Amino acid sequence: MKPWHTLSVDDVLKETGSSLDGLDDEAVQQKTSEFGKNELQTSGKVHPVMIFIRQFIDVMILVLVVAAIVSAFIGELSDTIVILVIIILNAVIGFFQEYRAEQAMEALKKMAAPFSNVVRNGSISEIPAADIVPGDIVLLEAGDLVPADMRLIEIHSLKINEASLTGESQAIDKTINTCSTADISLGDRTNLAFRGTHVTNGRGKGVVVETGMKTELGKIAGMLEKAESSTPLQKRLKDFSSKLTVIIILLCIGLFMIGYLRGEEFNRMLLTSISLAVAAIPEALPAVVTVSLALGARRLMKQNALIRKLYAVEGLGSVTFICTDKTGTLTKNQMIVQEIWVPDEKRKEAFMQAMSLNHDLKEKDGKKTGDPTELAMVEYAKTTAPFKRVEEIPFDSERKAMTTIHEREGKYWVITKGAAEAIMNMSRDVQLVEEIKKQEEKLAMGGMRVIGFGAKLVDKLPDEISPDNVEKDLEFLGLAGLIDPPRDEAKQAIRKCKTAGIVPVMITGDHPLTAATIAKELGIIEHDDHKVITGQELGRKEEREMEQEVLKIRVYARVSPEQKLKIVDGLQKKEQFVSMTGDGVNDAPSLKKANIGVAMGITGTEVTKEAAHMILLDDNFATIVRAVEEGRRIYDNIRKFIKYILTGNAAEIWTIFLAPFFGLPIPLLPVHILWINLVTDGLPALALAAEKEEQDTMNRPPRKTGESVFAKGLGIHVMWVGLFIGLLTIGTQWYAMEHGMKNWQTMVFTVLCFSQLWHVMAIRSETRSLFRIGVWSNVPLILAVLLTVIMQFMIIYLPELGKFFHVGPLTFPELLIAVGVSMVVFIAVEVEKFFKRRLRAGK
Ligand code: ADP
Ligand code: MG
Repeated sequence: MKPWHTLSVDDVLKETGSSLDGLDDEAVQQKTSEFGKNELQTSGKVHPVMIFIRQFIDVMILVLVVAAIVSAFIGELSDTIVILVIIILNAVIGFFQEYRAEQAMEALKKMAAPFSNVVRNGSISEIPAADIVPGDIVLLEAGDLVPADMRLIEIHSLKINEASLTGESQAIDKTINTCSTADISLGDRTNLAFRGTHVTNGRGKGVVVETGMKTELGKIAGMLEKAESSTPLQKRLKDFSSKLTVIIILLCIGLFMIGYLRGEEFNRMLLTSISLAVAAIPEALPAVVTVSLALGARRLMKQNALIRKLYAVEGLGSVTFICTDKTGTLTKNQMIVQEIWVPDEKRKEAFMQAMSLNHDLKEKDGKKTGDPTELAMVEYAKTTAPFKRVEEIPFDSERKAMTTIHEREGKYWVITKGAAEAIMNMSRDVQLVEEIKKQEEKLAMGGMRVIGFGAKLVDKLPDEISPDNVEKDLEFLGLAGLIDPPRDEAKQAIRKCKTAGIVPVMITGDHPLTAATIAKELGIIEHDDHKVITGQELGRKEEREMEQEVLKIRVYARVSPEQKLKIVDGLQKKEQFVSMTGDGVNDAPSLKKANIGVAMGITGTEVTKEAAHMILLDDNFATIVRAVEEGRRIYDNIRKFIKYILTGNAAEIWTIFLAPFFGLPIPLLPVHILWINLVTDGLPALALAAEKEEQDTMNRPPRKTGESVFAKGLGIHVMWVGLFIGLLTIGTQWYAMEHGMKNWQTMVFTVLCFSQLWHVMAIRSETRSLFRIGVWSNVPLILAVLLTVIMQFMIIYLPELGKFFHVGPLTFPELLIAVGVSMVVFIAVEVEKFFKRRLRAGK
């Protein structure tokens, strides 16, 4: 590898076959085939074959396979075949589920992959960072992730944080000077920018020297990209299922002993107990939750919310505070200069010139792009003054100002624009302070964003171009007031928040009056209890004072990104579950700290996106609210799913376990148990994920964090309905045997199967009756139920299949009994819901 930092810019360009105009298409193509993609190889991906094999690596399944094979030698071969077929089918279904989830996650990762601005063929274009090749000229600005290792060729106050590579937490000032010694530490190679580090300040340009695994980061890539840790729900369910597993195994051992002592055949008893264990242990529960979350993430993506951490899908349902940016998120970010004010008419020409010159817009494909605030002002100024830009100090949201310096008639013209107070403080026109303040407030009161301009003519440039040296002693040129209309959907989304028990909070760098006007218009502020505070006031607040007020504050104005951390912290101390939006590089820490960090997809910087749990592809506030709604729906459906599976399992256990106590023989054969586990439990459960949201999804308070999945009566439901189905099934067995029905076992089998299908129809809504939500409102579920019924009929009525399952064709009265008895489950659960509704209405 070359010591790139010791080469001059020209040499590096020569070495990489590039120029200041970047590579041309041919060179890009050639280099892509030579160097490959600019990607780190990660170990995260699992091969499909592994996913399939994993389906069998389950202790209970293995035990079952062994037991089935052993019993083939002693007993019937057909049983063994059926059991093995069912196990394989089970694995196939499991495989497709997991594979689908994996695919969904991969797709999400691709969507969230970073982009970079590069110069190719002499013009700037935005390309996926993975497509960068050595020789590419890359533009860097505050908030960018450095996409590859590069030699810097142009810098403007460029500072890069290299903590991810060197551990040094202070951002490094970069240079373009050539280093003289080759053997120096990475941190000292100040003319290089390394992949994976991020720009905290300023702008720059570099030529790419190494990509992919050849970068410094690539060399240590093995240590990176750790697999995502499980979500709280996954952890809790894993915990729960391992406890339940122990209980079920003990029960099955007990069952085996009781059966054996009562004189059942050893072999059959063994297979029955093991089959029951396999069927009743919800080992797949955590995996299925992952699938639901991953598929939920895919649905969210279609609604413009890109999930970066699976945990967000689950957490969204618990959000109690949504802290959001104003500009572009609540508003359209379609700025128009509405009004200007100049201290006296003589300054107007300079003011207009300043407006046209001081900006950070780029020419992309022949069109000016960039910050809408600046676009609006350049548009308003119309003509461009012919003064060449020689220096600049980029905007940062801490200073709330930016400066450009231009050559003007042998001198230098310094133009600074920014928040009116900021410019006032840099200005020599102290006599204007009162007047400026008054004018600013007037504009802000009308909901306008106010930008001030100052300028001065100097003979020579200061030695160091820094805010302290340059941004002082300015002549105040004037104010521009820009309107930015609220988004149409924002108002309604805020109303939705309120019915859903979520507090929307506006956070902005704008003037408090501007912010308050818009907050009132949108309904964020509704009465005097809803407070507006400024970053200055926030900074002065002691922790205790903050704790008393934080729940009442609805608007934070003139805040700096660092202060967002204090806001998140204050809310979290009050046990709130906070969603926080951000776009700039300084927002990353607060997004990380927030329970749900939300990055802007359009205006957001790569660093912010990297730190976020979720990315808003349309930068729209309403999308956050929709995501919360979707999160709540997904969680509800996971609960329904768990309810269904566990109730079914409980019913199977009660049926098998209780029969001996009523003096009845074991009601079901191993194949029946496995069939119910595979088909009856499996198919409809999957389709529950397609259930529409409950009517009250956004009319109830957020779910408390740490609330158990078994809360709100789920645990009780599982227990009573499980027992109820078990008793109905055994009751059927008793009745059928009492009346000498030869097909009693087929009846028992069918009752247990149909009971579950009736049950799934009844639990589609937590409280509303099936007829209210509409039988057909979840078509996949109806199809799954119909399919299950058809398959049940097939094994009962086709003698070729019946042979394998040891069932006989039910007579019409027998079938009627089976359907009738199982329907009682539906009625009972509907009655339960009826009482739930009554209880709620009474509250
Ligand atoms: P927000 O995005 O929350 O509305 P910003 O941090 O972007 O706020 O802006 C804060 C303040 O900084 C604005 O009110 C304005 O006065 C000033 N400002 C914003 N953009 C620019 C810019 N491009 N150049 C100079 N000043 C700006
Ligand atoms: Mg902004």
